[in-house]
Amino acid sequence: MADMFRRVLHACRKCLGPVLQGKDGFVCAVCDAADARVEDICGCGISAGEGGRKNLGFRCIPNPERGPASPAAVVIAFGAGLQADRGGPEP
Ligand SMILES: [Zn+2]
Ligand SMILES: [Zn+2]
Repeated sequence: MADMFRRVLHACRKCLGPVLQGKDGFVCAVCDAADARVEDICGCGISAGEGGRKNLGFRCIPNPERGPASPAAVVIAFGAGLQADRGGPEP
């Protein structure tokens, strides 16, 4: 059954590990986070307020600087940071 899992473009909000999609929902490949909805374990779902309707602007994105220093395939970025990416690397 393990081969039923496949990677999705989301990172675990607890440990930033890759999130896998399985038959019954989504699971973190590193820790034990799991939920039927990917938004409940990944960075996209980081939110405040009732029902999580107020999204704080976090999103899972492909790691723009993937390499030895940052091997993660997916990183969680803050909304404002996405726009700042155009200007170049942040200090
Ligand atoms: Zn995790
Ligand atoms: Zn996500």
